[in-house]
Amino acid sequence: MLKLTPKEISKRSALTVNPCKTCQPVGAIYAALGVHNCMPHSHGSQGCASYHRTFLTRHFKEPAIASTSSFTEGASVFGGGSNIKTGVKNVFDIYNPDIIAVHTTCLSETIGDDLNAYIQDMDLPEGKIVVHANTPSYVGSHISGFYNMMAGFIRYLSKSTGKSNGKTAIFPGFVNPGDIREMKKIANLMKVPFTMFPDQSGVMDAPMTGDYAMYPKGGTTVTEIVEMGDCKKVLALGELTSEEPANVLERKCKVPYTLIPLPIGIDATDKFVMELSQLSNEEVPYELEEERGQLVDLMLDAHFYFFNKTVAIFGDPDTVLGLTRLVLEMGMIPKYVLTGTPGENFVKLAQELFEQFGVEGCTAKAAGDLLELHQWIKNEKVDLLLGTTYGKQIARAEDIPFIRAGFPVLDRYAHSSFPIVGYKGAMRMVQAIADTLMDRQDKECSDEDFEIVM
Ligand code: SF4
Repeated sequence: MLKLTPKEISKRSALTVNPCKTCQPVGAIYAALGVHNCMPHSHGSQGCASYHRTFLTRHFKEPAIASTSSFTEGASVFGGGSNIKTGVKNVFDIYNPDIIAVHTTCLSETIGDDLNAYIQDMDLPEGKIVVHANTPSYVGSHISGFYNMMAGFIRYLSKSTGKSNGKTAIFPGFVNPGDIREMKKIANLMKVPFTMFPDQSGVMDAPMTGDYAMYPKGGTTVTEIVEMGDCKKVLALGELTSEEPANVLERKCKVPYTLIPLPIGIDATDKFVMELSQLSNEEVPYELEEERGQLVDLMLDAHFYFFNKTVAIFGDPDTVLGLTRLVLEMGMIPKYVLTGTPGENFVKLAQELFEQFGVEGCTAKAAGDLLELHQWIKNEKVDLLLGTTYGKQIARAEDIPFIRAGFPVLDRYAHSSFPIVGYKGAMRMVQAIADTLMDRQDKECSDEDFEIVM
C-alpha cells in the first residue's frame, strides 16, 4: 500500500495526489445540517449530491440528508432556473422543512447560474425560507464551503433591531457534534447566554429512538439566526474557519467579534474560558478548574513517553493548528504540519507556534497533499502520525503508529461523538497518544523489557 511512493520530491504545480481536503459543498451541507428543520439543497447534478451525502454519512454514521436540482444536459446548457424552482416546490411539498439552504456546485458555477435572481423570483409557501451560498469547488475546500454557507444564512436572515438581546453567538468552527456538546457544556458552566451557530449536536449524533426523524431535535433555529443580529458579541472559534461569517455579521448588524483558536489543548481552552468569563463576569467554576488540573496531571505523569517524539499532523487547518499546539504543550515535536485547504495564514500561524515553543526543523504547508506528506516522512521518519482516515495507507507503508482525529474518520466508529476540544477533549487525545506510543513500545521491546507496570 503506497509502497511505491518515491522518496525524491519533484516540483508539482498542477497535480494533486491524495488530496487532504474535499469539495466546498460537503462543508456547505454540514453547515446547513446544523440548522433546525433545514434541508440542504445541492444546485447541480445528482452525482455531486450523492457523493457529498455519502461522504458525510460515512463519517457520522448518520443519514446526511440533501436534495438536488438534478441537472441533466438541458440544465447544463440552458441553466438550472427551472430545475431549482421545481425542486424547491417539491421539497417544501414532500419533505416540509422550514428552510432550504441551497449551495452551488462546480457545474452551476461554471455556467454562471444566478441563485440570487432565481430565489427572488420564487413563489414560496407562507413562512418558508430559501437561502443560498456560492460554493464552487475548484477553489477552497469543504472548510470554505462551510463558512460560505454560514455567511449565506447570516446575509439572508440575521437582523438588528438596534436593541441587544444580551446573548453571545458562538461560532464553533468545523468540528464534530461531540466537540459542540463540550463547548456548550463549558459555556453553560460559565453562565453565558449563547446561540451556537451552526449546531450539529442532536442532529448528526441523534439517538436511536426507533422512529426515523428527517429533522432531529437539534440545530440552531431560524429565529436564533435572525436574532444573532442583536447579539452583544460573537466568539468566533478557529481563526481560519470562523472569521468570514463573523465579519459578515459585523458588517451587516454591527455585532463585534473576537477571533480565537479552536479550544484544543490547555492554552487555547484557557483562552476560550477566559473570554466566556469576561462575557458573564463570572469566576471560573471549580468543575472546570478541576478538569484543567487533571489534564496537567496526566500530561506530567506520562511526559516520559511524549518528550521529543516527532509527529506528523494533517487535516483541516484549525484542527491541525489546535493539535499542533496540544502536542507542543506535551513536549512533542510537530515535525510536519499540513492542510489541504489553501491559505498562507495557516503556515504563518503554525510557524508562530513553532517559535513560541522553541522547536526547530518543523515544516508547515497549506494546500498540500498526502503524497507530499508521505515523501517528507520517507525522507525523515516520524514517531507518530495524527490525522484523518486518509493517513492509514501512509501509516501502513511506513509502519508508523497512527491516531485518527478530525474530519473525516471513515473507518472507525464514534469519533464524531467524542470531543477533542476543551480540557476533557485534550485528556482524551493525551490518553490516545500515550496508549498508541506505549503499545508500540510493548510491541517492539525485548522480552526482558516487557513490563506490566509502565
Ligand atoms: S463536480 Fe465539483 S461539486 Fe461536484 S463532486 Fe466534483 S468537485 Fe464536488
